[in-house]
Amino acid sequence: MNHNNLDDQMILSHLGDDYEKYLGAVVPPVFMTSLHVFKTAEDYFAFDATNEGEFLYGRTGNPTAQIVEKKVAALERGGKALLFSSGMAATTTVISHVCQAGSHVICSRNAYGPVKAYLDNYCIPKLKMTVTYVGTELAEFESSIRPETALIMLESPSTFVFSITNLRAVACLAQKHGIKTYIDNTFCTPLFQKPIELGIDFVMHTASKYLGGHSDLIGGVLVGKEAAEIDTISQSIREWHGGVIGPMEAWLIIRGMRTLDVRLHRHQATAMTVASYLEKHPKVRQVYYPGLPSHPEYELMASQQSGNTGLLSFELDASLEESVRFLNQLQLFKIGCSWGGFESLALMPLYSMSPEGLQLVGANRNLIRIHCGLEGEANLLADLDRALMQI
Ligand SMILES: *Cc1c(COP(=O)(O)O)cnc(C)c1O
Repeated sequence: MNHNNLDDQMILSHLGDDYEKYLGAVVPPVFMTSLHVFKTAEDYFAFDATNEGEFLYGRTGNPTAQIVEKKVAALERGGKALLFSSGMAATTTVISHVCQAGSHVICSRNAYGPVKAYLDNYCIPKLKMTVTYVGTELAEFESSIRPETALIMLESPSTFVFSITNLRAVACLAQKHGIKTYIDNTFCTPLFQKPIELGIDFVMHTASKYLGGHSDLIGGVLVGKEAAEIDTISQSIREWHGGVIGPMEAWLIIRGMRTLDVRLHRHQATAMTVASYLEKHPKVRQVYYPGLPSHPEYELMASQQSGNTGLLSFELDASLEESVRFLNQLQLFKIGCSWGGFESLALMPLYSMSPEGLQLVGANRNLIRIHCGLEGEANLLADLDRALMQI
């Protein structure tokens, strides 16, 4: 099959499936192997990990993982992609690759909690790095730049209050100053936002969420604008830190991705219905969902995203205790911290956050975050309606 100019659905369904190579199997095999052997010593000496289809040892690459890497790189219009054992392994690898002792990082204040914890509790004390947390205003990014700023870390939309950063503007500013840019694109997936096309250097997805989509694996993927830079990471930090994915998990991601497009449109449609329902409900004070035209950054969102997915937050017009009671009243929405799978989930993710943390995020402890799964929307609405009646 000619793999040039494949559209996203064809990439998800077929890119990397070399039927002839795999005895005509419609599904490629799980290469459950830790090493590959060579015909001659000369072949071994000539091994080059940057050549597609050359494999040596499981920590440097695996054929099943490479299928996922090809698919995600193509979807993101990036140079190359690399799989990791988790999203966090991918993120900490980018920081280690781009930064050095004393580097300064500018990070979205609504970034994923463990990323901020890694910067605060590891990079700052152990590597003598400095970090400035910023909101979404371009002026804030601009005034935070220092001579030693090495990396700008974004998450847009963020996953508690769904704030949107202008990716084109930040990428342009960073390029002017020779600063690398990184985004956690997990919420949108490569289907609904393509940050490399907007000028961003590195895109990270945790495959544990929508790419896998079935809540049965942990994995991460990093895409780079420049293939050569991803090759460098593959042969340095990833190989040294060793956070590679197992072949079975890689295979599960391939399987999950085949249905990504249909799943996402269903998640989006349900979340829009649920968000609109909550927005009109008298017991709901505020809804955070970037797909709602009432979202303060709706136009910016629409200029850089082609869709929104199943995650949203809201605050009840109720006390903290009543909000907890509401959570316990839900039956179909299970209490759980992840998202992106087939199942609906609910959580108060900020309940245990410190006052400083809450101020940084700009939300209250009683914020309720729900993930709208693939169940019928009538069932989800009935569950919410019944629980709202109890408070
Ligand atoms: C879950 C999550 C991560 C971390 O991914 P892991 O695969 O669990 O390491 C990063 N970013 C966001 C937005 C997430 O929701």
